[in-house]
Amino acid sequence: MADKIQMKTTLVEMDGDEMTRIMWAMVKEKLLLPHVNLKTEFYDLGLEKRDETDDRITIEAAEAIKKHKVGVKCATITPDASRVGEYNLKQQWKSPNGTIRAVLDGTVFRKPIMVKNIKPAVRNWKNAITIGRHAYGDVYNNTEIRVPGAGKAEIVFTPLDGDPKRLTIHEFDGPGIIQGIHNTDKSIKSFSRACFTFALDQKLDLWFSTKDTISKTYDARFREIFKETYEDEFKEKFENEGLTYFFTLIDDAVSRIIKSEGGMLWAAKNYDGDVMSDMLASAFGSLAMMTSVLVSPDGYFEYEAAHGTVQKHYYKHIKGEKTSSNSTAIIFAWTGALKKIGELNDIPELISFADKLERATVSTIEDGIMTGDLVKLSDPPARKTANTEEFIDEIAARLAN
Ligand code: NAP
Ligand code: MG
Repeated sequence: MADKIQMKTTLVEMDGDEMTRIMWAMVKEKLLLPHVNLKTEFYDLGLEKRDETDDRITIEAAEAIKKHKVGVKCATITPDASRVGEYNLKQQWKSPNGTIRAVLDGTVFRKPIMVKNIKPAVRNWKNAITIGRHAYGDVYNNTEIRVPGAGKAEIVFTPLDGDPKRLTIHEFDGPGIIQGIHNTDKSIKSFSRACFTFALDQKLDLWFSTKDTISKTYDARFREIFKETYEDEFKEKFENEGLTYFFTLIDDAVSRIIKSEGGMLWAAKNYDGDVMSDMLASAFGSLAMMTSVLVSPDGYFEYEAAHGTVQKHYYKHIKGEKTSSNSTAIIFAWTGALKKIGELNDIPELISFADKLERATVSTIEDGIMTGDLVKLSDPPARKTANTEEFIDEIAARLAN
């Protein structure tokens, strides 16, 4: 075998939990280590280690991404009450993704991985639709009151120096509900920059949508900030690349996206992005066929699979039963990270290796050899339902050619 590809800088590797941890090890052993001399700084974000370190390991991993610029992360358990019992945890630790996102202040971009034999539910979609979700504020950091009965609801802002501003929300004559939400210019600005930068990098048109006809101050502020960022920083670059920036109302965007051929980056507010990314993932096939990357405004990148730890498959695995878990998104998390390292350090052979591994993965599926999640969707029908390990072995065989 030819000499292994060398890396110049360090990649931050974050291991995780359950079935994805099993697949992570297989992908490294069978697809990466035979070809690349991996230079990684390893952080075990498995739940036991997080509990043992009082979750310091997650912060350390995020700080390491700031230092080394690129990270690749396995799926991790976000503990709920039942996990506290299952793992005998000191406490219900926060979502590692949330913690890392807060340190890096990033935007998450998700893009389906398309293969010929899994047809999108929407017939006219020919190209993948990437979604960029604003991951701060709005209804996700809200304050709510269940109104017990008649009374007046007001919204008040008290500046550090000056008089409060007070507006009536509603005069209640009976029970109801109220909600307060916010966002900051700073966060919206960095979201807009992340979207324009990513669109330019991937050579995609950028669509952005809000409901600014109804929300004339709140949603309109998003529109204004995007427009400013475009005109001050990106217009010329977009025009040079023949790319467009298109703003429209969210409901108009939804109907245009459905009728389109795809191929754009769709930037969405937090809630719109939450809802639409799950719709797109299902319409394109499966969460296991979706790439996900967190891009920070300071130029840090964290690649991951969009799905969880596939708990049900893991319970089968530990009972010694065969599972048919799809490692495609994990493989693409690694290839995304390796390509970024290759690009930042000018290592063309690393980029071409990552491209080759992606092609080997896609061609395995297109040859009709796939895991159970895809068998259900394949047209023409699959030739073989591969188990977790067989699927990776088939990819390895194609990669060796
Ligand atoms: P999940 O792990 O995404 O799995 C949900 C179901 O989707 C699975 O039971 C399986 O369906 C299917 N599936 C997902 N990924 C698959 C793959 N690679 N191959 C084949 N089938 C796949 O979601 P969950 O069961 O709700 O969550 C499990 C754990 O993951 C939770 O503890 C949660 O906190 C964590 N989580 C982590 C992340 C992250 O770190 N990024 C994201 C989400 C959830 P069938 O059972 O029908 O085969
Ligand atoms: Mg969601």
